[in-house]
Parts: sequence; structure tokens; C-alpha cells
Amino acid sequence: MTANPFPRRLHPRVRISEPLSNRTTLRVGGPAEYFVEATSLRDVADTVNTAHEIGLPLHVIGGGSNLLIADEGIPGVVLSLHCMKKINVFGAKVHVQAGAKLSTLVNRCSAEGLAGPQSLAGIPGSVGGALAMNAGGRYGEIADYVERVIWINPQGELESRYKEEIDFGYRISELRHGVVIEAVLQGAPGERSELIGRAREILQQKLAAQPYSEFSAGCAFKNPIGQSAGRMIDLAGCKGLRVGGATVSDRHGNFIINTGDARARDVLELMRQVTQRVLEVHGVELQPEVQVWPGRSLLAA
Ligand SMILES: Cc1cc2nc3c(=O)[nH]c(=O)nc-3n(C[C@H](O)[C@H](O)[C@H](O)COP(=O)(O)OP(=O)(O)OC[C@H]3O[C@@H](n4cnc5c(N)ncnc54)[C@H](O)[C@@H]3O)c2cc1C
Repeated sequence: MTANPFPRRLHPRVRISEPLSNRTTLRVGGPAEYFVEATSLRDVADTVNTAHEIGLPLHVIGGGSNLLIADEGIPGVVLSLHCMKKINVFGAKVHVQAGAKLSTLVNRCSAEGLAGPQSLAGIPGSVGGALAMNAGGRYGEIADYVERVIWINPQGELESRYKEEIDFGYRISELRHGVVIEAVLQGAPGERSELIGRAREILQQKLAAQPYSEFSAGCAFKNPIGQSAGRMIDLAGCKGLRVGGATVSDRHGNFIINTGDARARDVLELMRQVTQRVLEVHGVELQPEVQVWPGRSLLAA
């Protein structure tokens, strides 16, 4: 049996060869060599330090709603902060830990009469994942509400950064190169019932347009500037295209669905075929939005 290289106090929170597919919304992929469920900043720091000291690759998993994990699994450490999920509201500011669900944050802000994050209603996953991906949609993105973020940066240091110091892009941010611990978000005063209604309306729009109840990782590809990847995929005749258990949704061209027995390699091959067809028809090379693991390790080992 593989030895547990983590400090003894962390052993109850370390699992060896832990299956990951059920921790993703796409439901594919193999196990993590080590899976650590952190319950405190000290757990996170010990995990990062151990990975660094013995040269293990490190990845952070949130709600797994934007992940495609290789069938062979992930060498090294997969760190989860899902137990670190406190949300505290102070006036128009929200202090939220990375492991909180984004939907819980949205509901809490609405209930407290705090306007802003309702624009993120219906986006699955955690606050940490949303910050790492700069999650959002037509009504806004999480960066719009960030005041500052506390994270372990790629050099392994605990750091607080204001929004202006963070590189946020379209469905991406530099925060995915470290470990987000907590964020301070800024809202505006609002009327509770209006905010609850607004969040519900945005959620309903998403439910009507997307295959929400099926196994997917959301949009597989980013929208090219000024264009809709879903529409391009549709016009390229990809809807219904299938590889193994993976298929392009016939409701939304940018969603790749696991119909039940898909493997990661089916999804990747389907993404390759879609990219090829779109390139042939539209002359545009689509870029993946979904994060494919194992990619590069977070912190330089
Ligand atoms: C049905 C469906 C609908 C979706 N709709 C939208 C949408 O409208 N808009 C949108 O933007 N996205 C959407 N997504 C994609 C996904 O929900 C978002 O990207 C989400 O923010 C990912 O969060 P997560 O916690 O699940 O992250 P994960 O999928 O677990 O991880 C994604 C990335 O974030 C990193 N990460 C996670 N937690 C941390 C942390 N604490 N510190 C540092 N890095 C971290 C991971 O390492 C990885 O690189 C949708 C997905 C689904 C399945």
C-alpha cells in the first residue's frame, strides 16, 4: 500500500487512490493518487508544503463542474476545500470561504438584501472555482463583485490581493495557479424580494436554454470574441455527433453530455472532432473552456 506522506495530524483527511468521477458533474475520470479534504487554513498550508517538499503535483478541485479528468487519474495531490464554506455578511460586504457553493452565496446575498451576485444564479460549483474561472454570463461575472482575495500564491505564500492586482480574463483568472482560501465581495443595497425574484428569473433562463440535468461540464468551449461557440457548433452540423458515451447535446451545441458510460478519452475525441469541423466551416479554432486534468501542477514543485 502507498505510504501516506502527509503530517500525521492530516491523515484522517487524506484518502489514497480516491475516485474523482463522482466529484465532477461530467462523471468521468480516474482516481486521485492522494485526495485531501482541508478543514482549515493550516490543513491547506500543510498539504501545499508536503506536495512541494516531496515534489508531488498539486491540483485544487471545487465543485468539479468545469473539469475533465483523465481516465488514468491524477498523479499527486488533489486538494478539496469543500469543508471550508463559511459566509459572513457585514453591511454590503460578504466574506466567503472558497468551499462555499456559489448557489448558497447567491441565496444568502438575496436573503440579506445584497444586490450583485444574483447575476451568477444557476452557475454550479464553488466560490473558489468561480474565482479561478471568473465564472459569469450575460449579466456579469464574479470579478465584478470582488474586493479582495486571500490565496496561497504560486510561490506558496499566503497573500491578500485587491481586485486591481488580480489578472481576471474571460472565463479565466490567474487565481487558478494558486489556492483561493477566501474572498471579500462587495454588493450594493437591494430589496430582498426583488433580488430573490431576479436570481430565480436568471436560473429559469438557464434551465430553459441548457441541458442542466444531464452530466456535463457546462460549455466545453469559450465563445470566440463577438461570436457564440454554441451557434458555430450547431451551424457546423455537430449537434448529435457522438463518440462512445459522449455526445454533443441537441439542446445546446456547446454542451458535451456523458450519456452514462462515457470515458474522458471519448469526450476529448469528440472535442477534437468538433474543433476540426468548426475550423473547416467557420475558419475559427475554438478554445476549450473546460479544464483538462492533469494539466500543469499548481505550484512549482
Ligand atoms: C450545467 C452547467 C452550467 C454551467 N454554466 C456556467 C455559466 O453560466 N457560466 C460559467 O462561467 N460557468 C458555467 N459552468 C461551468 C462551471 O460551473 C464554472 O466554471 C464554475 O465556476 C466552476 O467551479 P467549480 O467549483 O466547479 O470548479 P472546478 O470545476 O472544480 O475547477 C475549475 C478550475 O478552478 C480551479 N479551482 C477550483 N477551486 C479552486 C480554489 N479554491 N483555488 C484555486 N483554484 C480553484 C480548479 O483547479 C480548476 O482549474 C457551468 C457548468 C455546468 C455543469
